[in-house]
Amino acid sequence: VLRRLIRAIVVALIALLALCFPFGPLFPWSPWKPGYSSLVLDRATIYYPTGARVPGPFLDVDRDIDESEQFHRLKAPKRIRVILCRNWGDFQRFMPAMGRVGAVTLDTGTAIYITPRIAEHGFDYGEFLRHEISHATVDQNQSLLEAHANRKAPWLFEGIAVSFGKQQAYASVAQFKAFVMARDLVPVVDPAKRRPDLPSDMRYNYQVWRYFLEYLIDSYGRDRFQSLLLGVMRDPTASERVFSSVYGVSMPDEIRRFRAAVLSGKWSPRE
Ligand SMILES: [Zn+2]
Repeated sequence: VLRRLIRAIVVALIALLALCFPFGPLFPWSPWKPGYSSLVLDRATIYYPTGARVPGPFLDVDRDIDESEQFHRLKAPKRIRVILCRNWGDFQRFMPAMGRVGAVTLDTGTAIYITPRIAEHGFDYGEFLRHEISHATVDQNQSLLEAHANRKAPWLFEGIAVSFGKQQAYASVAQFKAFVMARDLVPVVDPAKRRPDLPSDMRYNYQVWRYFLEYLIDSYGRDRFQSLLLGVMRDPTASERVFSSVYGVSMPDEIRRFRAAVLSGKWSPRE
């Protein structure tokens, strides 16, 4: 009886694993993608709901990957699968436990999901594709463990993605300036100084992170920034330590200089 039970459990597990390909988290690697058609580009494959029209920006993904390599000074040699989800039900099966985000990149750097949220909010697909291609480019140059730890340094990895995406979906320059005027930015940027009690509005956080990086590049040069990027990619949990060794100043001190430069007009954010 026990042997029969074990065999039944093994068969059920294999069936469950097999179903994870077409209907679950292994969808990007499933040779059979029910409900989806594909469009093969040079560097990416687009999967979109069968019968739907592919939104224009998806046709520019090859160019976006080329530009991302130049922007990040990193190669992204692996083919990227971009999946435009048919509906929320599909996205929840592909990425269980993930909330209603607009888009997400797997830590492998080879699969990107675009969710129905973009269409629901009338956002620009191109901005969000470029944001995720930034993540994919960085992830492809990290181990899985390193890529998974990137969430410990959102100021760098989200900031650079918003910068590459030139995203307009978040706070405007005027809103950003009002936000900067009203508060200390140290807890918004420095992960060691994050205060869980602070309200965290991503529309503002994303812009603060983006502009902090652009300010660093304008002030100290692109080469120095690359040392920061490569250093934090090797250990995303230690971003404030890498920062002070690259720039010779503590993160809180430089964040205060950044805020002063914005408020005095010495440094101006670009749209
Ligand atoms: Zn992101």
